[in-house]
Amino acid sequence: MTFQDLGLAPELLRALETRGYSTPTPIQRQAIPEILAGRDLLAGAQTGTGKTAAFTLPLLQRLAEAPRGRHPRALILTPTRELAAQVGESVAAYGAHLPLRHAVIFGGVKINPQIQRLRAGVDIVVATPGRLLDHLNQGTVSLDHIGTLILDEADRMLDMGFIRDIEKILARLPESRQTLFFSATFNDEIKRLSRRLLNAPTHVQVSEENATAVRIQQRVIPVAKTKKRALLSYLVGSQDWRQVLVFTRTKHGANRLARQLEQDGLPSAAIHGNKSQGARTRALAAFKAGDIRVLVATDIAARGLDIHQLPHVVNFELPDTPEDYVHRIGRTGRAGHQGEALSLVSPDESRQLRAIERLIGERLESTPLPGYEPSAEERAAPAPPPPRRGRNGPRNRQARR
Ligand code: AMP
Repeated sequence: MTFQDLGLAPELLRALETRGYSTPTPIQRQAIPEILAGRDLLAGAQTGTGKTAAFTLPLLQRLAEAPRGRHPRALILTPTRELAAQVGESVAAYGAHLPLRHAVIFGGVKINPQIQRLRAGVDIVVATPGRLLDHLNQGTVSLDHIGTLILDEADRMLDMGFIRDIEKILARLPESRQTLFFSATFNDEIKRLSRRLLNAPTHVQVSEENATAVRIQQRVIPVAKTKKRALLSYLVGSQDWRQVLVFTRTKHGANRLARQLEQDGLPSAAIHGNKSQGARTRALAAFKAGDIRVLVATDIAARGLDIHQLPHVVNFELPDTPEDYVHRIGRTGRAGHQGEALSLVSPDESRQLRAIERLIGERLESTPLPGYEPSAEERAAPAPPPPRRGRNGPRNRQARR
């Protein structure tokens, strides 16, 4: 089956082609025709299944076919700003050849640019609940013309305590609309909310076996902090990895690691926010061409990278925000290709590891390597205090990267 078979418009097919996606994932096959037909949808699907495209593609198509107005016609609610940004990127990418405008609305950043964007007129609003409510209260957004509501990761929204905000937002939406409800899990609270919101919905469940568009083998190696670099060089060299993307938390750390790997005889480059666009493009081209074996990147720098289907992704340091882990490992094993995501975890990162395991809902297999293990002393040292977090993640994270 192809995307064309699903009845998608040529503009969307072109955008998919640019991304290199040729085969719809199970959730896309099931959901797209239903959404195009205007039906409500209750979907059980996790990250990695291709769920974002499953709702974004038909949404864009329906909006492009209907008359435009000044006010937003679709609202996508997400639990975190990272997810809002990611959905916003998908809307922009898949909608590249359609005359639709969107705004991404989340807290922790200045409200004025968002107000200006909304005032200029948008078709789609992608938002986290808290900041959207701020706009509603200030009268800087109107939801009176919303014809489609999408709740993405509804279970996480409830886990994060957004139910009251969501209630307030729902009260401002037109009764008559299409509603698409996505959740990875369904406890009683979620079921109640979905029953209230949906009108004769089609049920779509992506089962465990075929959940992922992406097959990623995830593994942890517990390692002494001081031996991480040696371990990485050993792994790349001994297993003859030719193309590996390595994540560090800071720009400084990325530079230092790339330099050290070079000294170990492994052609490497670092990319991060302080590098010029030209330097990043050159590093990426060299990486793709195979001239560089190791590309060391920070999360923010990697976000904009067009690299897919990498065989190896290594977390040299775990991210503070567990969602970043999911983004990082999403760089490997795309669409049917097997990939490996390896995390080098020192004892002081046990808190981040637990947060990641909670988020992805599984324990990661941990295999120590003789000679690189942390000492009993290092293991017994008290964990460092958690970073200060706002509602949507650590402060100053942009500043660091
Ligand atoms: P999601 O579940 O929406 O977070 O998507 C998981 C990953 O799969 C994202 O990186 C998508 O860009 C990618 N993806 C979505 N649809 C397809 C497809 N049909 N073929 C290959 N990759 C896809």
